[in-house]
Amino acid sequence: MFRKKKCIGEVTTRYFRKMLNMEKQKHPINKYLQSNNSNLTSPNITKSGTNTIVEFNHSLKLPVPEKDSNSLSASLLDDILYTNVFNDDIGDNNCDIHDDIDSDDNSSKIIESFNIEDELRSWVLKFKVSHNSANCILGIIKSAGINVPKDIRTLMKTPTTHVISNIDQGSYIHLGLENMILPILKKYDSLIYTPNKVLKIGINLDGLPLSRSSKSQLWTILIEFTNCNLLSGYVLPIGIFHGNSKPKSIHEFLNPFLSDILTLLNCGLNVNGNIYQFEVGHVLCDSPAKSFLLNVKSFNAYFGCTACTQEGSYINNRMEFLEIESLLRTDKSFRSKTQEEYHKGSSPLELLPIDMINDVCIDYMHNVCLGVTKRLIEFWVRGKKDVRLIDENKVPSEFIRLPRGLDDIEFYKATELRMFVIHSGLIVLKGNLSKQMYSHFKLFVCALRILITPDICQTFNNLAQSLLNEFVTQYSSLYGAHFVTYNVHSLLHLPMYVKVHGCLDNFSCFKYENYLQFIKKSIKSAKYPLQEVTNRIIEKQNYFITNDIVLDPIVIVKEIINNTSSPYFCLADRLYEKIFIKELKVTININNKRDKYIMLKNNDIVVVNNIVKPQNELGFKLIVQKCLNSSSLFTEPIESSIIGFLTVNPIILSKIFPL
Ligand SMILES: [Zn+2]
Repeated sequence: MFRKKKCIGEVTTRYFRKMLNMEKQKHPINKYLQSNNSNLTSPNITKSGTNTIVEFNHSLKLPVPEKDSNSLSASLLDDILYTNVFNDDIGDNNCDIHDDIDSDDNSSKIIESFNIEDELRSWVLKFKVSHNSANCILGIIKSAGINVPKDIRTLMKTPTTHVISNIDQGSYIHLGLENMILPILKKYDSLIYTPNKVLKIGINLDGLPLSRSSKSQLWTILIEFTNCNLLSGYVLPIGIFHGNSKPKSIHEFLNPFLSDILTLLNCGLNVNGNIYQFEVGHVLCDSPAKSFLLNVKSFNAYFGCTACTQEGSYINNRMEFLEIESLLRTDKSFRSKTQEEYHKGSSPLELLPIDMINDVCIDYMHNVCLGVTKRLIEFWVRGKKDVRLIDENKVPSEFIRLPRGLDDIEFYKATELRMFVIHSGLIVLKGNLSKQMYSHFKLFVCALRILITPDICQTFNNLAQSLLNEFVTQYSSLYGAHFVTYNVHSLLHLPMYVKVHGCLDNFSCFKYENYLQFIKKSIKSAKYPLQEVTNRIIEKQNYFITNDIVLDPIVIVKEIINNTSSPYFCLADRLYEKIFIKELKVTININNKRDKYIMLKNNDIVVVNNIVKPQNELGFKLIVQKCLNSSSLFTEPIESSIIGFLTVNPIILSKIFPL
């Protein structure tokens, strides 16, 4: 039986009353069972950067969620703490589930695991319910004789006090590294498999303007884990500054964090009796924050490049970096301040055991997407032709935002620009841009697709370097030397960072940026932003601590009635119309052409006809047909099949076979 659970925001009055009655009778409350199937064979599926590269073995065993992983409580673990970088669509998927089945027969099963306080907490967090509204509904529930807290702050375990320090130019709240890390590690301890229990931490520092009508702004210190897939979606806030400008002293701002992290690096952390050791994986910021953190000259100064020692030229009010090869900075040259003109003073980061050049990375979200790509589109829009992107119905669900006209470029978000440069740009620009400019753009796209794809970013790293060298060289002649700014120049250094840290998505600000948006949205009044943000963070953490882990690798979005059989499945098997594969963040929907084609690791493209859960088996299988006449989209400057650009005729298909 396919179990369903409704979220409290969508139930009918009758259903809600039924839940209340069950609560009154104090039925035993079963928490969600922890899904920890140690016997599972990991899916042999990987996302290869830009492409959905999926390899399903015949032995693929993906567990079917027996519990209701789509409940509000369960899905919140993703929504609240997990940072879904390029896809916010899962919430919609979950909504679909609630529409499927609505019978009393299912309701009785649902109520067994109903905990009204958990569900209310989930509801408040998911829908960002105001305190007044929440207090009102608590009053209604209480008047029905149900024992719930009278005040939302009690329900949410909102902190009653805050330790806020005054520092130069503003105030600062330190959430603490251990305070934020420990709950997650305690929860996941038995599931974390990293060599010698060493976790690598990524650090992000960024400024966040709070409104357009004032200078009020936050500066945040965020971290993530960079070498553990299980934890890779979590972004944790460690310290937050509020003021009308950035903190005056980077040293004063960073001191509490540095004190914490040095302790952590030296002593490790005892989690349930296991000692975890820590290393710093990367430090990521946008260019202004990076200059601030490194305590060096701005990126638009004469010696503004953080990776090489090139002296820029000031042309038409812009700082340009026209040389392709310059002497690279090194950790030693940075710490000894060999190029005096570059440094403004010492950087607090020098206290950390990191490489001050290789580990303080260039971020492609800012430099490539919001920087170079946006500027290129601005050139094209301001030029002769408006270029429209592809029809929205052809865009797979993995993209948060549907493409819009390029004349909206000033409003484009980083994810839209990423989609344009990695996926759609070469297609929509073909024939709409001069041949020379199109070939030039192709150099950029090919290099990025190499650097973003885990399987080839190292083997073709030198090729990407040559393509970018050529791109930057031609940029000057095509668009003008005065437009070879720091962002364009920094492309030359991207392959080096990929060599050190792996593909571009291993060290990007997309995750951090998502978290910053949560922080921004959690502030309702301008009066006490630090307290408000902290309350929301602690409430979420409390919710996280008290709820069990949901590890189902696949979310079933929609089941269909199986009233047929074929050589590949029988009547007793379960069939699905739509599933979501969490690890890959990929949706497969057999009834929607935008989500029914997948690319296998060997570059074969298949169309999915059926999603089957065989009876008495743990795994799923896909019944597919291969598209037979695929070919490269282009052969210059490289064979496009290398970077996953293929053309196919979806009509000429192979025989049906299972994966
Ligand atoms: Zn440079």
